[in-house]
Amino acid sequence: MTVSQYITESMKASSWIRKMFEEGTKLKAQFGDENVYDFTLGNPDVDPPAEFFDVLQKLTAAPQKGAHAYMPNAGYTDVRKKIAEKVSREQKVSLPLENIVMTCGAAGALNTVLKTILNPKDEVIVPKPYFAEYGFYIQNHGGEIIPVDTEEDFSLNVSTIARAVTDKTRAVLINSPHNPTGKVYGADSIKELSSLINDFNKKGKELYLISDEPYREIVYNNIEVPSILHHCRQSIVVTSYSKSLSIPGERIGYCAVNPSCSDVNTLMAGLILSNRILGYVNAPALMQRIVAELNDVSVDITPYEKRKLLFTDGLKKAGYSFIEPEGAFYLFCTAPGGDDIAYVRHLQNYNILVVPGSGFGGPGFFRITYCVSEDSI
Ligand code: PLP
Repeated sequence: MTVSQYITESMKASSWIRKMFEEGTKLKAQFGDENVYDFTLGNPDVDPPAEFFDVLQKLTAAPQKGAHAYMPNAGYTDVRKKIAEKVSREQKVSLPLENIVMTCGAAGALNTVLKTILNPKDEVIVPKPYFAEYGFYIQNHGGEIIPVDTEEDFSLNVSTIARAVTDKTRAVLINSPHNPTGKVYGADSIKELSSLINDFNKKGKELYLISDEPYREIVYNNIEVPSILHHCRQSIVVTSYSKSLSIPGERIGYCAVNPSCSDVNTLMAGLILSNRILGYVNAPALMQRIVAELNDVSVDITPYEKRKLLFTDGLKKAGYSFIEPEGAFYLFCTAPGGDDIAYVRHLQNYNILVVPGSGFGGPGFFRITYCVSEDSI
């Protein structure tokens, strides 16, 4: 056997995104790139802000001794201090630098957190639909994903989450602004979910709220992304600069841990160890130095706003139904006829590539990404 049974099965399970990628490559070879309309990949195509290149140039122009050496596994102390200031402001809590671990993107942060808190067969509740990688990340650390229904507009159904809690539940994992729906959870639902988790913890359960927030800066009409750390005592924010600075290839992010988490010093020590032994060792040195200087900088979202408008106007006129995205750069449309896979295949006949909702635990829908040129839309 070339690869393990688990990886063989996982390759089959992850086949939707891969299949779309392969279909795209085939169609592009046959018809030319410009004649294939590929809305599958969430790969930001807006340039990183000028400030990113300014700091990059400044740092490379004056090499510092030891700047590329090993460092503490949590990241540079001065960088963590800067990030703690940013998180304190955003989340309306006072966070010390000790509660920050610099990571290899949000994906690295999620794996670090899950490795630290999960015992074998522990359950992680995830509202549907969800970023498909969550299932793999939870399984990486012996846990089980428990997908739960949301409301028709994809807002949280806190009673459903409450009913899904068992003796094995270790965490609720949410993502806002949301991939694949563009939903931003409102303050009321965050407060309701937080009080549910706070109540369980008061009764002696140790349940975490993990909030995956890599799209926090990509929101429309100045909508507010509510603070998790302010409302939920046992909470961890995981995030990255992949979307806010358009640098997903640089693999830089962090976890920010609520100082009111129980036994927080042990939790932090566990996260730092996990970051190390997962093989990340530490987040990229140069990128840490750069993001620490860009606390108030994020990409210009005007292109995303324009494309969203172009797409939503066109789709509405054509009779499609979807919730208006409040953030991120995705549209999650109802598949005409109800069968998302059949509909995605139908669109392929027109060289249009989208991802079936089934790939996100949301059959009956399809996902459009608008990190693409206006011409393509
Ligand atoms: N979480 C969500 C919801 C995402 O959509 C993504 C990437 O698309 C990630 C996490 C991973 O982000 P990163 O590139 O920072 O690891």
